[in-house]
Amino acid sequence: MTSQFIPVEPFDYVVFGGTGDLAERKLIPALYHRAADGQVLPSSRIIGAARAEMSTEAFREFARQAIVAHVKPDERRSDKIEFFLGMLHYVSVDAASERGWAELKALLGEDDRVRAFYLAVGPTIFAEIAARLGACGLIGADSRLVVEKPIGHDLASAHELNLTIGRYFGENQIFRIDHYLGKETVQNLMALRFANALYEPIWNSAHIDHVQITVAETLGLEARAGYYDRSGAIRDMVQNHILQLLCLVAMEPPASIAADAVRDEKLKVLRALKPIDASNVADMTVRGQYGAGAADGAAVPGYLEELADGKSDTETFVAIKAEVENWRWAGVPFYLRTGKRLAQRVSEIIIQFKPVPHSIFGPEAGRLIANRLVLRLQPDEAVGQMIMIKDPGPGGMRLRQVALDMSFADSFAVRAPDAYERLLLDVIRGNQTLFMRRDEVEAAWRWIDPIISAWRETGLKCRKYTAGTWGPSAAIALVERDGRTWHEEEAGD
Ligand code: NAP
Repeated sequence: MTSQFIPVEPFDYVVFGGTGDLAERKLIPALYHRAADGQVLPSSRIIGAARAEMSTEAFREFARQAIVAHVKPDERRSDKIEFFLGMLHYVSVDAASERGWAELKALLGEDDRVRAFYLAVGPTIFAEIAARLGACGLIGADSRLVVEKPIGHDLASAHELNLTIGRYFGENQIFRIDHYLGKETVQNLMALRFANALYEPIWNSAHIDHVQITVAETLGLEARAGYYDRSGAIRDMVQNHILQLLCLVAMEPPASIAADAVRDEKLKVLRALKPIDASNVADMTVRGQYGAGAADGAAVPGYLEELADGKSDTETFVAIKAEVENWRWAGVPFYLRTGKRLAQRVSEIIIQFKPVPHSIFGPEAGRLIANRLVLRLQPDEAVGQMIMIKDPGPGGMRLRQVALDMSFADSFAVRAPDAYERLLLDVIRGNQTLFMRRDEVEAAWRWIDPIISAWRETGLKCRKYTAGTWGPSAAIALVERDGRTWHEEEAGD
């Protein structure tokens, strides 16, 4: 079986920050793949824009190197690469001054084709770019704006940013990207829930014991100290990626897959999250910061040693027991956790079903393990349903847990696409289903802000954990206190 690629209409993609890390590692390789699969018509243009003086030829060379570095050798074809590079252009533009805007306007011309402006630049200049695009008359009915996280630092700043970009672009033209939503597994979660009659009747507190969402990294700070130390794990990961995943697990069936139908349901989940404040923050959250330890087999320094001044109470780990206060989820905890320098790089959603009400099997059958649906987003995307079966063979009735592999990747002659590939073209298609609406982003901050304030008010400090472990022991206690365990402990890996 193969997937079919339907070309999108010709477009102009202006990538502000076209020479940056995100463009190099993600955007250029993603656009190359789509072009190589014939989804991008040759008259489309991809225009890099940044302050550096650079010719279009030099930008094409930069893109060629990006493809060599970030596209697998067997997916690089020289004819396709030349075809793709031919679409690339470069303009030197400074978001913070007049420089280069007339050139950009001249290059774009009067065409009424779809025009997307991707802001792969620091968030401090998002508003300025939107304003200059407006002032230069570059925004038409078919223009779109794509913004990356972080969308604000708190509710007030997110509100302010949304207000500013909203002066120039309508909400239906703004694409707030959360690349987790572009992952195959995340879309598969929607397919599993809403394209099958099997799961939805049991997708509630009567049958689900709890949900776990883990986004674990083995990396430390890398070169992001400035940003990360101001942000911390809760702003960097929970406010966006983890809450988006929680919404897709917990939302009611939308009336359709249309953007607003889905986003309306996600918003209701965010609004139903039980508030965490000074009265319960110590019971519902754990903050952690890694100390020296090991990662990927090598000794690594602690967080403080990676900082210039060696002082910080920023959390590099957070675990939260969240609750969705509605009929479907009453009494079902959603255990969320994310951290740097953890034991394994893995992002996954675990739906833990309740045990059978009564076992007919004797002790010789072994332990009955309750069913569990595992949706893995990283490092390899996979979906597996853990079920109990009879151990094959002539012996007695012994039971064993096996995974029904529901990934089916091997059944389709298709490469697993990067999330950006889908999202970048959804922008051109004008499909906002996998993008965050303004009220969603703000509702997420409305839940997160009081947690951060409560940490401050109550003086809840970070607990140290050794790099290369699963975080502070308090995070294990958070779950064990309820008689449960984190997935990897049970799995034993
Ligand atoms: P980066 O490597 O520092 O690149 C920044 C880019 O912006 C460069 O091309 C830079 O080129 C350009 N730029 C800076 N100031 C400019 C100005 N005044 N006018 C025009 N261009 C300007 O940053 P990045 O890692 O790619 O991140 C870009 C954005 O994506 C940030 O908001 C980041 O939070 C977000 N993001 C990044 C990643 C990632 O994996 N890297 C992931 C998620 C989100 P010049 O210096 O030549 O102008």
